[in-house]
Amino acid sequence: MPAMDDLRDLLIHELQDLYDAEHRIAKALPKMRKAAGAEELKDAFDSHLQETQGQIGRLEQCFDLLGEEAKRKKCHGILGLIEEGQEEMEEDANQAVLDAALIGAAQKVEHYEIGSYGTARTHAQLLGNDQVAALLQETLDEEAATDKKLTAIAQAGINEAAARGEDGGNSDQRTSTRWAAASRGGSPSRRTSSPGRGSTKKGAKKK
Ligand code: FE
Ligand code: FE
Repeated sequence: MPAMDDLRDLLIHELQDLYDAEHRIAKALPKMRKAAGAEELKDAFDSHLQETQGQIGRLEQCFDLLGEEAKRKKCHGILGLIEEGQEEMEEDANQAVLDAALIGAAQKVEHYEIGSYGTARTHAQLLGNDQVAALLQETLDEEAATDKKLTAIAQAGINEAAARGEDGGNSDQRTSTRWAAASRGGSPSRRTSSPGRGSTKKGAKKK
């Protein structure tokens, strides 16, 4: 392991840690996407995967600017957080509850990244390396936006669905299932009736 005599050495360590973290996150996100039930959550994992690939590129630019080789140093923090998320995904869970768990796991990862990028950004600033600091700030902003987006997705229905123990966080999906159930048995006819309307009573039980 290289020496850590000064702040520059520390910054390199931090970048190597983040470089490893982002690679592990890029590998975990498709699995989280697959495990998610709600479409908006799947989409959020998709778009964060794309961002993560850009963040890996930004770290490579940072190494470049510092005249260092882009290297990974095992990030035990992210490794642990991903393992915890993995354990939850392996549970035989209700889909809405699993979605809520995935959001929680993803937000822990974002918070770890926010802390790490904030520290590295400040160290780059202290070293007078404004270009590196700006790149790290850019990623920091993306991580913070992702964290906010995940909160919004949770609050838009997944948390409530999980609290009710519903099997599926996607309200559209539930609606379409209800519609399908309501229209089942109706023979195809030429009569023009507005589809669904009036025939969904069956499924629209009061709470
Ligand atoms: Fe990231
Ligand atoms: Fe992230």
